[in-house]
Amino acid sequence: MTESTDNLIQPFLVHQTDVRGRLVRLGSELDEIMSRHDYPEPVARLLAELLALAAVMGSALKFDGILTVQTKGDGAVKMMVADVTSDGAIRGYAQFDEDLLAGILKSHSEGDFLSVPQLMGAGYLAFTVDQGEHTERYQGIVELTGSTLADCIQHYFSQSDQVDMVVRLAAGLTDQGWRAGAITLQRLPEVGGVAGGDLDDSKEVWRRSVIFLSSVKNEELLDPELDASGLLFRLFHEDGAVVYDPIELKFSCRCDESRLAHVLLTLGQQELDDCKVDGAVSSQCEFCRQLFVFDDEKLAYYRSLQG
Ligand SMILES: [Zn+2]
Repeated sequence: MTESTDNLIQPFLVHQTDVRGRLVRLGSELDEIMSRHDYPEPVARLLAELLALAAVMGSALKFDGILTVQTKGDGAVKMMVADVTSDGAIRGYAQFDEDLLAGILKSHSEGDFLSVPQLMGAGYLAFTVDQGEHTERYQGIVELTGSTLADCIQHYFSQSDQVDMVVRLAAGLTDQGWRAGAITLQRLPEVGGVAGGDLDDSKEVWRRSVIFLSSVKNEELLDPELDASGLLFRLFHEDGAVVYDPIELKFSCRCDESRLAHVLLTLGQQELDDCKVDGAVSSQCEFCRQLFVFDDEKLAYYRSLQG
């Protein structure tokens, strides 16, 4: 175990069972992501949940790669993107319609629970796994049918006969800034239990673990005073949990000036000129809000690199 008890993915195994789990805690790194934007609370909360979801799903990647979770809806929160690399770099952003959102907030009291359909309308949640140039992209997709993002993704897993999986997500603005948490449990049903174990035992352990998971409170998933091991102990003290090395989560953006320049230079001169304001083309990264400005000199430099 490392010293870090926050901003991490903690893989674990329910002791002497085939029930595997992953716990995600996001604190200061999530707050850093949110500080780059100025989202109204309901939008920030949804995005924070999506980031925790990306982290908990991305940690299942077996190879180097990027997991992206994206939502699209016809409601106030039009789209959200969160991605995480296998070494724990995480980032995300949301796009929303201010007028639609203001309308929703006006017709509710502060603190009212706003469901996914209320905020996002009809749409879908998709995830993509990109493991490099020479590998296939795997995509899963599910309609935004549940009242929470966790319900939506749970719906996706319940359609799958490959794996039994349960997910919990929580996010909120606390005294210590934005925090989010996620926890999943999974088992491979066809394996049928521990080596040499009994199928009924395995089902019973799964059933019990799912009940423990459903007992976790949002506050517990978010509590900065309750570290990952402490929370796992609280949940699985009956069977015990074996923890593996955690993966550190860190806000990091992969936007890159030269890549952006490369895209701009595929435009014709006329198109490029049309994009110019005060003689320069500007582009702001949606994820980290960094502004890239390309004046003629810079464009000429990148053009020269292309040979
Ligand atoms: Zn960026």
